[in-house]
Amino acid sequence: MPEYLDVWQCIGCGRVEEVPQTCIGVCRTVKRKLVDQKDYDAIALRLERYAEVLRLIAASTPRREACLEHWHALQSRARAALAEDSAPSSSSAPAR
Ligand SMILES: [Zn+2]
Repeated sequence: MPEYLDVWQCIGCGRVEEVPQTCIGVCRTVKRKLVDQKDYDAIALRLERYAEVLRLIAASTPRREACLEHWHALQSRARAALAEDSAPSSSSAPAR
């Protein structure tokens, strides 16, 4: 799971905590969640793998006599997509 940081963002000018930006004078801050780009990219990649399997399911219709083989092929694709989640990652946690 990604690590989220709570930040404050101005709804007027978009300023986020210490990020220097000129305010347009209507500052009102709201609490936001900030996630590391690396964590976000990992989740986006995972979702794309899952979506690929879902698109395959949604777009394919097996021949009546091939339903079981079709199902097994889809299961195989789904298992492969899920297995990548448990595969060891080369990335390490950022130093804080
Ligand atoms: Zn502002």
